[in-house]
Amino acid sequence: MVSPPGESDARVLVDRLPAILYIADPGINGRWHYVSDGALDILGFSPKEWIADPELWARQIHPDDRDRVFGREDELAEPTTPDEYRLRHRDGTIVWVRDEAALVRDAEGRDRWHGVMLDITDRKLAEAELERRVDQQAAVARLGERALEGADVAELVHDALQEAMRMLGVQPGAVLQYAQDGDALVLRAGVVIASETLSSRSEPGAGAAPQSRVAPRLDGRSGDRAAVALRGYRAADLSHGRIWQIEGRDRRWGLLWLASAGRDLKAADVDFVQALANILADAIQRRAAEDDMRHHALHDPLTGLPNRVLFLDRLGHALKRTADHVAVVLLDIDNFKLVNDSLGHGSGDELLMKIAPRLMSALRPGDTIARLGGDEFVVLLEDISHPRDAAQIAERIVAALEVPFSLATGEHFAKASLGIAIAEGEDTVPASLIRDADSAMYEAKANGRARFEVFDRAMRTRTVKRLSVENDLRRALERDELRVAYQPIVSLRDLSVVSVEALLRWEHPVRGLVSPAEFIAVAEESGLIEPIGRWALNTACAQASLWHHARPDSRPVGICVNLSARQLTQQDLEATVVSALELTGIEPSSLCMEVTESVLLEKSASLSETIARVARLGVRFVLDDFGTGYSSLAYLTRLPIDGLKVDRSFVEALGRDQRSTAITTAIVRMAHALSVEVIAEGVETEAQLLALRDLGCELAQGFHLHPPLGAHEISELLVAGHPSAAVRRGGILGEPPQSA
Ligand code: C2E
Ligand code: CA
Ligand code: CA
Repeated sequence: MVSPPGESDARVLVDRLPAILYIADPGINGRWHYVSDGALDILGFSPKEWIADPELWARQIHPDDRDRVFGREDELAEPTTPDEYRLRHRDGTIVWVRDEAALVRDAEGRDRWHGVMLDITDRKLAEAELERRVDQQAAVARLGERALEGADVAELVHDALQEAMRMLGVQPGAVLQYAQDGDALVLRAGVVIASETLSSRSEPGAGAAPQSRVAPRLDGRSGDRAAVALRGYRAADLSHGRIWQIEGRDRRWGLLWLASAGRDLKAADVDFVQALANILADAIQRRAAEDDMRHHALHDPLTGLPNRVLFLDRLGHALKRTADHVAVVLLDIDNFKLVNDSLGHGSGDELLMKIAPRLMSALRPGDTIARLGGDEFVVLLEDISHPRDAAQIAERIVAALEVPFSLATGEHFAKASLGIAIAEGEDTVPASLIRDADSAMYEAKANGRARFEVFDRAMRTRTVKRLSVENDLRRALERDELRVAYQPIVSLRDLSVVSVEALLRWEHPVRGLVSPAEFIAVAEESGLIEPIGRWALNTACAQASLWHHARPDSRPVGICVNLSARQLTQQDLEATVVSALELTGIEPSSLCMEVTESVLLEKSASLSETIARVARLGVRFVLDDFGTGYSSLAYLTRLPIDGLKVDRSFVEALGRDQRSTAITTAIVRMAHALSVEVIAEGVETEAQLLALRDLGCELAQGFHLHPPLGAHEISELLVAGHPSAAVRRGGILGEPPQSA
């Protein structure tokens, strides 16, 4: 053993250094000549033990560092650069040393290592810790970036959990989401270990059921411990771990759980996992906001049903899949405007909201129902093997609407008109299918509402015509193409003209005279009836006023004006009538409004109210086309009705057979019993005239008496008792008499 140079106080000093000073032979298992006392402090071996066992040092080198250190030893580099490596302490813990040595040739000419090993464990751990933090920050940044880029939430959840488990070096872990109802947790990623399986065999169910619902039994929720039980499944235990909340600004979404990480987690690790959880919360919140926006863009806010955009999309897909089995049912609530106008928009909205589930109840699970806007709904039927199937569903819808709706304002009956269009092969385009269904629906309305029609090609032609009528009609007023014809209503006692009915005529520049039968319905649908009706009323009243002035001493001829349902819902109808009366100066009692009885089927309070207000002005009301609707006597008593106009079909039936005659007779009797006037319309033969007179009917109108005439012809008629011969044959404004 070679004595170190220097004095004994120097030895004491050296032995006190927090380092291991040594002198050793070169080579892996070279002899150690001197080791300072620091060896005991730093590695748990006394200098004596060390020197006695030449292989000790090499044995204690960490296996991962061994090759590197031995390699250097072989190189015998000079001068050496310091090396840092790990040595195992006697107690098994790892000690990092910085080994700095130089080969020194002694007096005998032998090379020996003179070196110092410094304990740098603390520095190394701090460095490693720093590296971990950098890694964690990078992981947080990576995940955050992906979240910002809109990565799939399920993927983010999975990856965040993996990162957390990897960085903290723990297993297993789980991400659980609070279920909608808030009282359960749903496994979204990872595994939850059931408590009984913690000790025994592991069952596959726990992790393999991402949808399994977990009822939290967050017992006492003491700190971060929680126990969770899989509902109706088995108990799962989260208590051997730690929980991080995944919560956004306003909502707790779920939690992240890591097993056995409860014990010695550094604050920085806890923060790291919380950062991951926060990223998830952000991503989930943003995703929820996006979903909301998407839902908003694709759904009707009032009913929550898909909107037009979504419907067209679904229809497009359906047509691509099976063009032969797709049908569209378009549905429009009959007289919805009445609800809105009479009960207010709140009731209208309420009705629409209640109609939606009613419609759904009539459909099959896979069918799509959407609201196109206003009172229009549309149903997409896939799997239609026969038009009959679509018709059946339409029937079910009609039936579903038969039960009244209870609104805040009271019970309401809502009926609908439906149009069905069935796709024809692959070229069917969504928009055209809807348009066809619309045509069919229009016909359903025209055919009396509360029914359905299936589209056929003839409808398309009619629709095109209707649309062109609508276009032209918009300009008819300003271009002064409208006229009014007047058809006399005579007393059956002496055939004198008592009043005249104003009937609209349209002189179309190209198509010639257009019948109101063709354009009134279009005017009603499009809303044009309001300005047109106002014009007709003003024109008729002005004409009546002229006639009165021409014969100031005679009884003023009455003027009857037709009012459509739509006009009755007009807010300003009363004002319109008042203004017509004031402008023309005619007596309110010489004005008579004709409303069809079907209008009164709407048991709308405000509609009756409108009629009552106008009637209070002194204007008379007559029920037109009486007998064609489903009137009950109740209307007649409830409303200020002055007369009934027996529909042409009953007049025509007179004398044909006993039964028809009996019905007409009953109507006349009923009217008399209620003290209202009876007007027979459409009198075409002398026989009808005589039969009506026998029944005690007081007034009549029809081609057999007078066709609709021009104002001038009426003037002649009023003066002379009959119009000139030319007029008698029917002028440009009237239909030719059917029989002489
Ligand atoms: P309406 O109120 O029932 O009018 C009577 C219709 O019967 C008129 O048809 C008239 O020309 C026709 N007519 C008269 N006598 C006979 C006859 O002996 N035999 C036959 N077969 N028909 C006869 P028009 O003028 O074509 O009017 C059709 C419908 O258009 C009217 O039915 C009415 O509902 C509507 N309308 C006409 N003018 C107006 C108006 O100014 N406003 C509104 N809202 N509707 C109107
Ligand atoms: Ca009429
Ligand atoms: Ca009529």
